[in-house]
Amino acid sequence: MPRSVIVVGGSLAGLMHALQLKRQGNNVTILEQDPSSERSSNEAGIAFRAYCEEFLTKYDDTGVTVCVPISRTRIGWRTRPQLLSFALSMRLTSWGHLYRVLRANFDGYASKAVPVPPPSRPGDGRGQYLVGKRAVGLSYNEQSGIVTVRYVDFSTGKEEQMTADLVIGADGIHSTVRNLIGVHTVKEYAGYVAWRGTVPEKLLSQETLEYFTSCVNANTMKRSYAITYVIPTDDGNFEPGERLINFVWYYNIAEGSPEMDRVLTDINGVHHRNTVPRGLVQPEEWARVRETMLPHMAAPFAELVSKNDSPFVTKIHDARITSPPTCHNGRVILVGDALTTLRPHSGSASEQAAFHCLRLPRVWDLETDLKDWVTQVDFYTHRLYLLSRAIGELGQGSAFSFFKSLFSYVACLLSALWYGKPKPSSR
Ligand SMILES: Cc1cc2nc3c(=O)[nH]c(=O)nc-3n(C[C@H](O)[C@H](O)[C@H](O)COP(=O)(O)OP(=O)(O)OC[C@H]3O[C@@H](n4cnc5c(N)ncnc54)[C@H](O)[C@@H]3O)c2cc1C
Repeated sequence: MPRSVIVVGGSLAGLMHALQLKRQGNNVTILEQDPSSERSSNEAGIAFRAYCEEFLTKYDDTGVTVCVPISRTRIGWRTRPQLLSFALSMRLTSWGHLYRVLRANFDGYASKAVPVPPPSRPGDGRGQYLVGKRAVGLSYNEQSGIVTVRYVDFSTGKEEQMTADLVIGADGIHSTVRNLIGVHTVKEYAGYVAWRGTVPEKLLSQETLEYFTSCVNANTMKRSYAITYVIPTDDGNFEPGERLINFVWYYNIAEGSPEMDRVLTDINGVHHRNTVPRGLVQPEEWARVRETMLPHMAAPFAELVSKNDSPFVTKIHDARITSPPTCHNGRVILVGDALTTLRPHSGSASEQAAFHCLRLPRVWDLETDLKDWVTQVDFYTHRLYLLSRAIGELGQGSAFSFFKSLFSYVACLLSALWYGKPKPSSR
């Protein structure tokens, strides 16, 4: 069992691992490069599924409501608001709300969502969340088993260092930790971007509001589709009429095209490699996309999208590692998007982070070893990776690319049936 832990990256995967390790009695420090704890650049909706639920049931002491349950899904086809509708239960929340709940538990961070954070449990270790610290280097002393992380402190501009028994690399798609330990990654642009945003319920007409609050909705268009669902505010407001309608709208753009260049260049002329945050998207670009697509959308979607003036846009990638996500005798471990970045279609990024996390205590409790964790994680993550690709290609790709990705997914499921899912070995 490690005693001191550094987690690089303080988003959902980092916070989940940090909270779990703290509850197990370790002293945990999160190094987050963002200079502010009030993170609001990209906050929008996320799906909240079984492993996230299991995680919070085990470790959350805030007692606050976390998600909105929805029991139906509706599919619209081009300008027709409803082609079919069927029962499908989902639970949704906002990134910002879940972040605040995790912070309240981890380091007692008070926010409007959790004004009075719960006290630590008896036996908890210490938890500290340091902002404005970017990890830049990592070394391992084999004799002592100690890992040293070097980081730049943005408040002083100086490089500092910190040591730990264990380092968790939860630093997302462009993971520095992954590069530092030399884990090779295959990263590929999926062929489209996601325009994302939220609209307060109170800005919508009554008819449109009813349409969006009763179901998770999808509006399929030619080589484009949008998904919407209702979420709480980042401050944890679940009051009907006060919540937000979240949309994710997938839109094809060729790699290297002038259009891609324009979309990823912000209002200050800065070019972003992955996401242009909320507030920095060029208004002319957003206006141009809406002008092109709105006439082809169902009326409720068109109303929703036209009422958002501050979206953010993300280039969608597939990224997965091709060697094990651990190094230095298991003292450095990659998790979450740093391990595999899934396309967002299956709503599984936070679910994957919770899965990675919930399987790790078996390693510390010596019920299994890290090799088994890697096998379990690899199988689970690979399946989600193929599923999210297949859904993405159905909406955005050609018939050929869809059937090809569907075939890979089905082959993965069949091979699991045939050979059996990997089971942890006991020690
Ligand atoms: C501010 C923010 C808002 C988001 N909002 C949404 C949303 O609304 N909907 C959604 O579906 N997904 C959202 N995501 C993505 C979502 O969190 C992930 O897809 C998923 O939960 C897995 O998270 P992760 O922690 O593995 O990676 P990420 O969420 O990408 O987090 C990686 C973290 O590591 C930090 N980091 C990177 N490099 C370094 C370094 N060298 N040193 C220190 N820190 C570093 C980053 O600043 C970031 O906080 C958001 C992510 C962020 C960071």
